[in-house]
Amino acid sequence: MAKRHTGNVFDYDLFVIGGGSGGIRAARMAANAGARVGLAEEDRLGGTCVIRGCVPKKLMVNAADYSDAFRGAAGFGWSAGEPSFDWPSFRTAKDREISRLESIYRKNLAAAGVQIFEERAVLADAHAVSLASCGTKSAKHILVATGGAPFVPDLPGAGLASTSNDVFLLDKLPDRVLIVGGGYIACEFAGILNGLGCRVTLNYRGEQILRGFDGDVRSHVSEAMSARGIEVCLNAETESIDRNGPALAVRTTGGSLSEFDFVLYATGRRPNTAGLGLEAVGIELGRGGKVPVDSYSQSPVPSIYAVGDATDRINLTPVAIREGAAFAQTVFMNNPTPVDHANVPTAVFTRPEIGTVGMTEEAANARGKTVVYSTRFRPLSAVIAGSKEEVLMKVVVDRASRVVLGVHIVGPGAGELIQAVGIAVRMGATKEDFDRTVAVHPTAAEELVTLTEPVGEA
Ligand code: FAD
Ligand code: NDP
Repeated sequence: MAKRHTGNVFDYDLFVIGGGSGGIRAARMAANAGARVGLAEEDRLGGTCVIRGCVPKKLMVNAADYSDAFRGAAGFGWSAGEPSFDWPSFRTAKDREISRLESIYRKNLAAAGVQIFEERAVLADAHAVSLASCGTKSAKHILVATGGAPFVPDLPGAGLASTSNDVFLLDKLPDRVLIVGGGYIACEFAGILNGLGCRVTLNYRGEQILRGFDGDVRSHVSEAMSARGIEVCLNAETESIDRNGPALAVRTTGGSLSEFDFVLYATGRRPNTAGLGLEAVGIELGRGGKVPVDSYSQSPVPSIYAVGDATDRINLTPVAIREGAAFAQTVFMNNPTPVDHANVPTAVFTRPEIGTVGMTEEAANARGKTVVYSTRFRPLSAVIAGSKEEVLMKVVVDRASRVVLGVHIVGPGAGELIQAVGIAVRMGATKEDFDRTVAVHPTAAEELVTLTEPVGEA
């Protein structure tokens, strides 16, 4: 039974449910602004990004990238013994780093004066949460920042499938891996596990992986993944999984049967909102269970806000952080701040890596007349290193205004590059602004300011 809240007497000014990217940022900012803040986290502080997402994933990308470095080094005159990868050593180092980061989050929250509850919280009413350890706590505002969780479709043997959460915890690396899906996680883990020596097959149900990305980027990455030895199966529906001794027998479209040691489902994520009590307080959940919010992250119940993956807007860590910060500005710092979700740069840590900002060529053409500039080339180091992999750079320009609508890069450092290019695109730079910028030589990035001949107009 929830406590009655009379007048303005609440236990907290803000109670945050979920100690991930969005919740932590909001809690710290609100506390630093003088609010009395409580935060509940049912798993580990840091959330998906730090514990089972961006950070351990990027460390695995780094580990996989050494395979290229070892291979290329001989061309530059280096000789060393046959390289080998020891998963347990890497896992120990990775886990130590994750624990270090987690303790920093705990320390920073405590330093800001946030009271941390290491347990699950659910809504008791529009101004209260229930906690197993201490019953109901009231709050003037409640922030739902519960993130998302992997979604595995219903198929025979679905219980035998693993998700990205499980990869980080493996005791040993599997030999034969099937990855189902063609989005961020499927393509990133295909590259990682391939680089670490696993035999990787990727089943994607559609015509081409990475739906929503620029068409040239999709085909470029798909071909590069195949060239690296990943078996990319398109139009491949996975129908069932059966146990066959220690192996997993997987039936794919058309009845073909193959055996794997590990089946990773990367078929999207769903907001973590089941059983949270949102419906009972009058919030009708949206598709997949997302919390409906306005541009200030306020739900239809005025005391309840939601940020990050729980709202399924753009499911990226920096976006969740921005939404958490904008919420704190709006509610506790007297500075109403809507979140701008336009031109969010993003990287996909496939191998080769993707960096992208703004419109794809397809989206830009659907909107109006465009001019497209693009180039593919082998970067300077590739020839000596014996790599045939090409870099792709593409600039999509509005034909009338010459404003750059989108930039798409595939190649080493694409994620680093797109962060800087994103500033220019957000500022409304024109193709001529790019051209007037003197090149940095010798770099791959200089191609971005030396593209003279359009490859297409629409
Ligand atoms: P989360 O970080 O998921 O935090 C939510 C927290 O709430 C969790 O810790 C959860 O335990 C807790 N919680 C849930 N329910 C309750 C409850 N009832 N009570 C108490 N606690 C609760 N994004 C990028 O920008 N770059 C990347 O490279 C990247 N890589 C990724 C790789 C993987 C494998 C995955 C899965 C995701 C990746 N993402 C990446 C996405 C990114 O991790 C998320 O967008 C981001 O973490 C969302 O932050 P959030 O605060 O909304 O939720
Ligand atoms: P995505 O939405 O990116 O991809 C899901 C994939 O699964 C798509 O290829 C989709 O196909 C396919 N799929 C969906 N349902 C089914 C089904 N029933 N059967 C077979 N295939 C299916 O989700 P992810 O899980 O890869 O990642 C979740 C989110 O996390 C990302 O969208 C991104 O926001 C974030 N993330 C960000 C990263 C980064 O910033 N580098 C890295 C990892 C995650 P279709 O396209 O045909 O619908």
